[in-house]
Amino acid sequence: MKIAVIGAGTLGVTTSLELISHGHEVKVFEKNAGVAQEASFATAGFIGPGLTHSWVGPGMVSHILKRYFSMQGGIKRHGVGIPAGWLLKWSKACASPHVEMKQAAMHRLAQYSQEVLKSITEQHGLNFEMSAGSLILLRSESELATYQTHLKLLKQADIPFKQLDSMETLKVEPALSSSERLWGSLYFPNDAVANCRQFTLLAKQIAESQGVEFLTGKEVLPLSANNPLMIQVNGMPDEKFDHVIVCSGIGTKHILKNQSIPLPLLAIHGYTVSAAVREPIDAPLSGVLDASSMVSVSRMGQRIRVSGMFEHGQNPKKPVDSVSLLYKVLNDWFPGAAKTTEIVQAWKGTRDVLADGLPLIGSSGIPGVWLNAGHGNHGWSFACGTARLIADMISGRECEIDLKGLGIERY
Ligand SMILES: Cc1cc2nc3c(=O)[nH]c(=O)nc-3n(C[C@H](O)[C@H](O)[C@H](O)COP(=O)(O)OP(=O)(O)OC[C@H]3O[C@@H](n4cnc5c(N)ncnc54)[C@H](O)[C@@H]3O)c2cc1C
Repeated sequence: MKIAVIGAGTLGVTTSLELISHGHEVKVFEKNAGVAQEASFATAGFIGPGLTHSWVGPGMVSHILKRYFSMQGGIKRHGVGIPAGWLLKWSKACASPHVEMKQAAMHRLAQYSQEVLKSITEQHGLNFEMSAGSLILLRSESELATYQTHLKLLKQADIPFKQLDSMETLKVEPALSSSERLWGSLYFPNDAVANCRQFTLLAKQIAESQGVEFLTGKEVLPLSANNPLMIQVNGMPDEKFDHVIVCSGIGTKHILKNQSIPLPLLAIHGYTVSAAVREPIDAPLSGVLDASSMVSVSRMGQRIRVSGMFEHGQNPKKPVDSVSLLYKVLNDWFPGAAKTTEIVQAWKGTRDVLADGLPLIGSSGIPGVWLNAGHGNHGWSFACGTARLIADMISGRECEIDLKGLGIERY
């Protein structure tokens, strides 16, 4: 079949790779000059179910709104607030009796995706920056409470984790500063930190060598109401496809603006700062998330990447002037680990967040139009798995995991 993929972030590229391996004819349209230049450019890198924890659940409304209005915990707002309609849908999702089932679906997806990533890596002998394990650092016992449902579901799914005290935590990450208050941590030995952009570039090379055509610098116009399988790009002849897969990140809403698909997608910006390791002995071995600030510090080969913040609205400041919290958390936990006075990359990326915290995978309800979007904070973690699932669905094969709760039927 002839298939168009709109968007060449990590989701679009991995989807194209799976489709070509199923024998389809695939074209990827990307508005930027290259792949992985938007949300997939400089992610924190966490993959696996341990850190797949959504902001949807019992008690989350008061927990998040308190931070939102006081602008604590890395949350910032500019200009008009979050639309009331989105907030209403989110608060309903938090109170839903199905919330545990939804969290479990995310864990399943993260675990499956990690397996698919591993199989692609082994099959093609790929080499990209990756380190094993991740930690959530807790400064007090009360921080553990937020994770109770998450841990219960991990246990039910037999996903390994350990609750560590401060001494045990230091054995996993020996460079953690002893001057910072550390109560303990949650350790996820099977999770990992890996470089999303590096993997995506490698996946693109393989896809291209197998016949995927990447059309970069080509912005696809919103799909027409009458003929949604006709791809229109200014300056190119219109082209009809058998299937169209929307992997357009935060651009998804615009692509679908002529269709009656009411997606509650919200743009939430975040930042990362990447700098060279100064002294390996002072640097993290893998990735840690500071539970109180929700800022992570992770190892990317010879660099350290600090990531966090949840920002809504237009911040007039440059990324480099908006990241003081990231430097603070880096200096709290790994003082002197990175060469922050030398070349530092400060980056701002935009997450596409659906009100119920879950991604949207599968048919859009319009024949031939498929969605792989709304991945929020976990698109890298979910990429390889959702790509394979979409390719299986289009090819009429049975999916290897249950997708209940992740489809369009919920809107
Ligand atoms: C600070 C930060 C840290 C993060 N850390 C992690 C993490 O640790 N682990 C994790 O799993 N996830 C993380 N994420 C989330 C992750 O980055 C995203 O979920 C993921 O990159 C989304 O991939 P994507 O391909 O859907 O979107 P994108 O990478 O944004 O790709 C979408 C592509 O579609 C293109 N496009 C859009 N509209 C059109 C159009 N009309 N025509 C042609 N092309 C179009 C865009 O140019 C873009 O290249 C993080 C995000 C941020 C912001």
